[in-house]
Amino acid sequence: MQMEQTDVLVIGAGPAGTVAGAIVNKAGYKVKVVEKMKFPRFVIGESLLPRCMEALEEAGLLDSVLKMGFQRKTGAKFVRDGVICDYSFSDQFTDGWNHAYQVTRADFDKALADGLEAQGVPVEYETTVTAIRFNEDGSSVTTLTDGNGNEKQIEARFIIDGSGYGRVIPRLFGLDKPSNLAPRKALFVHTNDVNRQMDDEPDRITVIVHKPDVWVWVIPFATGVTSVGFVGDPAFFEKYTGTPEEQLRAAIADEPYIAERMKGVEYLWEPKILQSWSSTTEKFYGNGFVLTGNVTEFLDPVFSSGVTLATVSSQIAGKLVVRHLKGEPVDWDKDYTEVMMQGVNTFRSYVMGWYDTTLHTIFFAKDQNPDIKKMICSVLAGYVWDTSNPYVKEHDTALHKLAKTIRLRDSIEYINNGFK
Ligand code: FAD
Repeated sequence: MQMEQTDVLVIGAGPAGTVAGAIVNKAGYKVKVVEKMKFPRFVIGESLLPRCMEALEEAGLLDSVLKMGFQRKTGAKFVRDGVICDYSFSDQFTDGWNHAYQVTRADFDKALADGLEAQGVPVEYETTVTAIRFNEDGSSVTTLTDGNGNEKQIEARFIIDGSGYGRVIPRLFGLDKPSNLAPRKALFVHTNDVNRQMDDEPDRITVIVHKPDVWVWVIPFATGVTSVGFVGDPAFFEKYTGTPEEQLRAAIADEPYIAERMKGVEYLWEPKILQSWSSTTEKFYGNGFVLTGNVTEFLDPVFSSGVTLATVSSQIAGKLVVRHLKGEPVDWDKDYTEVMMQGVNTFRSYVMGWYDTTLHTIFFAKDQNPDIKKMICSVLAGYVWDTSNPYVKEHDTALHKLAKTIRLRDSIEYINNGFK
């Protein structure tokens, strides 16, 4: 069988794989990316966060993205019963990017992969990893199958697994672990949004509280197309029957904030359904490999954290792999797992706070404290590693304390107003 050699084999050409590949290549090592699909290919995850832009910049992939002319995203708008809470990334606690982009992922991921190839890294499409054998020194032999069913092998000093929902190494080596988040379902489509609101869109995404545990995303793209999706408890969707399009049209008709706007708009494809995506793994690294992006842990789409966690994990892991290849000692627990868990756990507190409605109490409160709003805005911008932000450092308690204060204040006001 044909045997190729490389320093680093990257599995997957999504945001995680391309950022990691670029960072290792920049340090002068030979990198090879293998990707199961032919690009462009569909994947969900269309709303980026400002922190993600820093990872793309360090990977030298920013220009490839900017030249695509994607819709600039300056914030996120949350809506409940017609009450609006607007977060603007230019008004945040952490020093950083004040915008990101709303992207069609097929085009975004292709731009990243093309940008990586332009840096001299080969990306082999329609090539699937089917088996990996690790040697004692951490080097490995990976078996690949191409689009014609032909097998070949590649020898690598190190593997970066950025295979996303494919979860290659966790699946091959039994590392998958269930998430502590409840299973959720999503039903979504791209529409030709002819009635788009031009007054407060398209430069931000909208998240609508449809029911306490069901929400809707509205993500406008630069092309006039808008992505719309319902997310929530799988039981919520049971009342809608028929084709996915019939189900989504009925659900949208039940949501006053978008019912009129989306009435009769064309669906560009049959709505897609995804379910039970949250997952994690026993460990984020091992002898001869590191996991980055969705393979480590994916939580929930509500705060658009997926691509940011994917690119930042690769930004960090890529640099650690370079140190490892140089023969320098790497403390993977401290410098990778703990750092990543800091970010993941901050987002986890916010995701849980969203579904238990703590964050609804905060987002839709009257007279919000502007300083606290800036701190929360930085989390929503993806700056979940800035522990000088109390709403990052004390993510597991700060939101509950704040919501309690708001509820108490509202109760006192209610009493003072004679229970009105
Ligand atoms: P991926 O983008 O999945 O890329 C992995 C690549 O690996 C794929 O191209 C795949 O083909 C390839 N691969 C898989 N198996 C193999 C194999 N055996 N051999 C070779 N290649 C392989 N995130 C956001 O940031 N914003 C959002 O608005 C958002 N919305 C979401 C909505 C929903 C309903 C869901 C479920 C997720 C959402 N996400 C969002 C999360 C986002 O989809 C992921 O976090 C993101 O795509 C992760 O990037 P990645 O590079 O890790 O993996």
